Amino acid sequence: MKKAVVVGAGIAGIASAIRLQNKGFKVQVLEKNSYPGGKLTQINQNGFRFDAGPSLFTMPNLVTELFEISGKKPSDYFKYDQLEILCNYFYEDGTRISANSDITIFADEIEKKTTDSAENVINHLKKSAFIHKATEEQFLNKSLHKLSSFLSFSTITSIFKLPFLNIFSSMNQVNEKAFTDSKTIRLFNRYATYNGSNPYKAPGILNIIPHLEFGLGAYLPKGGMHEITNSLVKLAKEIGVEFSFNEEVTGIETSKNLAKSVVTKSGNYAGDVIICNADIHTVYEKLIPSAKKLAKVDQQERSSSALIFYWGIGKEFPELDVHNILFTEDYKTEFEHLFDSKTIYEDPTVYINITSKHIKEDAPKGKGNWFVMINVPSVYGQDWDVMIAEARKNILIKISRILGENIENLIEYEEKLTPQLIQDKTNSYKGSLYGTSSNNRFSAFFRHKNFSSQYKNLYFCGGSVHPGGGIPLALSSAKIIDTFIKC
Ligand code: FAD
Repeated sequence: MKKAVVVGAGIAGIASAIRLQNKGFKVQVLEKNSYPGGKLTQINQNGFRFDAGPSLFTMPNLVTELFEISGKKPSDYFKYDQLEILCNYFYEDGTRISANSDITIFADEIEKKTTDSAENVINHLKKSAFIHKATEEQFLNKSLHKLSSFLSFSTITSIFKLPFLNIFSSMNQVNEKAFTDSKTIRLFNRYATYNGSNPYKAPGILNIIPHLEFGLGAYLPKGGMHEITNSLVKLAKEIGVEFSFNEEVTGIETSKNLAKSVVTKSGNYAGDVIICNADIHTVYEKLIPSAKKLAKVDQQERSSSALIFYWGIGKEFPELDVHNILFTEDYKTEFEHLFDSKTIYEDPTVYINITSKHIKEDAPKGKGNWFVMINVPSVYGQDWDVMIAEARKNILIKISRILGENIENLIEYEEKLTPQLIQDKTNSYKGSLYGTSSNNRFSAFFRHKNFSSQYKNLYFCGGSVHPGGGIPLALSSAKIIDTFIKC
């Protein structure tokens, strides 16, 4: 039986393992941590359960199809609900916008609360759906680095549609053309942060992202985001995938044009196929050192990182929902801090995720499990202790001001996740959440490919390679490499 070795049990590594085991390989996953999931983990403390990393779940079909290809009924392993309210938005002048997943209700809400018309919102979301349709097949489901990908009717039609996809304008320029009210513009600009980018630099084609929420839906797994990891690991083990935890890979042995085995403290694991889920920077820095490849990866700007406070809050706030955004008044300056001066803006946009609004067991009765996050730069030698202390103070001032209540007094439990911790825990270079940013119109083409041109049995999956970061794209990367590999 042919063997496949997967380096890393992040969501893309687990998905690749399931796909290859189904193909007939005997798959061994090696993970440096004592637990699977990489960024997709949870914290359970003092009666509060927090999803530690991702909080927004779109495109659940990319998870459920892994059960289907394994001959299992997805709902026996993994259940999820669709959210009616996508997000509640709060502005400093007291305006509150509730984004209903029903586009007409949302468009009416925008017309009522801003100077923009419902018609403009509908047209904008139609354009978002158009971009998705025009690019999904080519940019998200296929390698951009195989000639065969370009020799298809769908690719040729995609290329003809490029002038209509806003790749030559920034996302903000497109949104400023579509809307007049800064509140609506900020709301749509924020979608650039879904892959760690800057809406003032990222191309307008990223206006595809609202369609993922408004067109395809936002979901919450029963039991929380971490159930994505749990249920897939359960499936993988059932079909025969073997996992070794606390097993850090320190190198990949190669011979001529083949990757032969991976090296850990406890020995060598030989593989006919080797798949790296670890950040591509780690691969070229530590596993198959290559100064040339590393320099190429380094040329690309990293995505933003995050500072998260997990707060057990001793009170419920009816105005908050599962996803909430408290906007800064000066979004442009916030992004200049993130990507230019690599600092944290004093009035950051604050995201509060409260799964206990939907999953009652996630917090004691009358309380809430707050995941409070701001976007921060990735790690460039800043004085993080000072920056984090200042940011915590500013976040508390902002939330307290907008909700009219002293939030610090309500904190019953506190834990935090910083860019350095993200780097240390998952080997994500500079602690970036989504690998490289999309702050350049050619980013999609510069992102590392899913295979090695030097070693013909070495493949790459996960958020740092094509098609990019976020759970759906990380799962797509596993699907793409599945199309290359034969058993
Ligand atoms: P990872 O999760 O980074 O997994 C890589 C694995 O490889 C890790 O387990 C690591 O320990 C292991 N590894 C690395 N090096 C080695 C080695 N040498 N030997 C053995 N093992 C190794 N995405 C969304 O879709 N929605 C969101 O709302 C969202 N929010 C986010 C919020 C936060 C705070 C964070 C951190 C991320 C968020 N993301 C979100 C992004 C999403 O989590 C990632 O894109 C996705 O989980 C990446 O999965 P992955 O498999 O590529 O990598």
